Amino acid sequence: MLMQEIVNEILSCKKCDLHKTKTNYVPGVGNEGAEIVFVGEAPGRDEDLQGEPFVGAAGKLLTEMLASIGLRREDVYITNILKCRPPNNRDPAPDEIEKCGDYLVRQLDVIKPNVIVCLGRFAAQFIFNLIGLQFTTISRVKGKVYEVERWGKKIGVVALYHPAAVLYKPQLREEYENDFRKIGELCKRKQPTLFDYL
Ligand code: URA
Repeated sequence: MLMQEIVNEILSCKKCDLHKTKTNYVPGVGNEGAEIVFVGEAPGRDEDLQGEPFVGAAGKLLTEMLASIGLRREDVYITNILKCRPPNNRDPAPDEIEKCGDYLVRQLDVIKPNVIVCLGRFAAQFIFNLIGLQFTTISRVKGKVYEVERWGKKIGVVALYHPAAVLYKPQLREEYENDFRKIGELCKRKQPTLFDYL
């Protein structure tokens, strides 16, 4: 299965009602050969308008954080659990997560990343479940590196606060920068060649 086939399926998806209120589907962006995947919750207003994940204010912070550890957006793959915006940015509903999450699972199976970074509680809960890790609360698990077996290799899974939460609570910023540094270290360990251009 190629990423493009999954993307094509997403672009005509009618599995839940969110396709009726969305402007654009937001399948994901980046390189399908990426070693690191960032998983968010769902598109917001800017993402819905542009068809690309993390392009609004939270996306700007994410892009800055990536740059701070020497990564460009095109070095990684960025996607969300939901591929359509929930009206008024409400929380994803369990049935939407179940239906749409299948695309994410298949995207990950194509990419087979060495590192999965979960942005926020919904992404962390979904990925932890998928990978057989116990999710408690985002504040308990965030910033810890979990090493698990997947795709016949050891991969790293890390949950972080959602960047929108950090924008909302600037006092989290320093902690966020430290957590990103940990991701930088983990990525360097897993994929040293990615940093050759630096
Ligand atoms: N928040 C998310 O979880 N994903 C996006 O793409 C944008 C904001």
